[in-house]
Formats: sequence, structure tokens, C-alpha cells
Amino acid sequence: MYRPERLVIGTKNKGKIAELEALLAPLEIRLTGLDEFDSVPDVRETGSTFKENAGIKAREYAVFSGHWTLADDSGLVVYALDGKPGVFSARFAGNNASDLENTEKLLGEMTGLKGRDRRACFVCEMAVADDEGQVVFSALGRCEGTIADKPFGTNGFGYDPVFLPEGFDLTFGELPDEVKSRISHRAAAASEIADFFGSLSLPRT
Ligand code: IMP
Repeated sequence: MYRPERLVIGTKNKGKIAELEALLAPLEIRLTGLDEFDSVPDVRETGSTFKENAGIKAREYAVFSGHWTLADDSGLVVYALDGKPGVFSARFAGNNASDLENTEKLLGEMTGLKGRDRRACFVCEMAVADDEGQVVFSALGRCEGTIADKPFGTNGFGYDPVFLPEGFDLTFGELPDEVKSRISHRAAAASEIADFFGSLSLPRT
């Protein structure tokens, strides 16, 4: 298998594209976000796991673009809530719910839970599909921590203000971005992706 010269990132989120650009820079693969394409199809995340959803997005965007494509799916897993909010993290309090509404619903469901029962982890699955739409690699990144009793800080997004990563007394909402980008679930998955592309042979010229 040869290293592709171009990789589509299956997201329009400029932050995610920039993060991956930095990590994959040494491999000299040209990255293109979905924002550079017209009439991008709406891919429905119908899977029941992060891995399924990442695979669905990687496959469908690869078929649409005709290029190798990387897609991810991520969310928060609270062990004492049987893995909730899980794949529903973005819409835990309903379709189009805001980060604050999702966080408030989470804190409500965790009322009365203390100590180890507040353990949680952020999960990120990344999938790579080749230019024919076959998933050829997937990677799992995790970031363990606990859920605070109330939100602290305004950095980041989503559940960051209530997530205390293991080994820190501050939430992702309070910690500097450099810390999060070093220890996050996305960083862990992206580093496996970089190793995967690094292991592929260079294209014949
Ligand atoms: P997506 O993978 O970007 O669709 O993320 C799904 C949802 O999971 C987001 O809307 C957030 O609610 C949550 N989430 C994923 N990653 C993070 C993170 O790094 N911090 C906070 N929330 C996150």
C-alpha cells in the first residue's frame, strides 16, 4: 500500500483540520477539508458505536471525493451512566442542544454520584478509507478523568468545563489549550494515524 499524496479530512471544523495538519506535517501529505468541496453530502451518523460512525463518515466522504479520507467520531463516556452520553454526546439534551444544555443535563443525571462514580473518559475513534471507500485503518484514543460537580472555565468546547483529566486539579475549561492538545483523546488517536501513514511506502515517482 502506498502513502497517498492527498488526504481529505471528513470535517468542516477548521480547528480539527489545523490540529491534524500540525500532526501530519512531517509526512508531506496534502490535507483538504470538506469545506473545500461543493455539494458535500449530509452523512448520517447511524452507528451505535464511535468506531462505526467514524467508518461510515470515512467511507462515504471517500466515495464522494474520490480521495483517501480520514474521519473521526468522538464523545464523552460516563461509566456510572452505562456509557452515556456516548455517541449521543452532541445531542444529549436534544437535537441542536447547546453545549451548556448538554452539560446541564449530564450534571443533572449525575446528581448524588460521588468519588469514583464520577469517572469518565473522552473517546475519539478515527478511521481512514482509501480512494475506493474501503476502511484500511482505524485508531482509538482515550482521555480518562472525572466529572466535576459544576462547570469551571471557558476554554475548549462541549463538556470541557466539567471534565477533570486524570492527574490535574483543573478542568479542560481551565487548562491551557497546549495541555489539552497534548493529552486529549484526539491527540492520542491522531498520533496512531500519523504512525500508520508513516509506515506506508512512498509513492513511486
Ligand atoms: P464530534 O466528534 O465533533 O461530533 O463530537 C461529538 C460531541 O462530543 C461534541 O459535540 C462534544 O459534546 C463532545 N466532545 C467530543 N470531544 C470533546 C472534547 O474534546 N471536549 C469536550 N467535548 C467533546
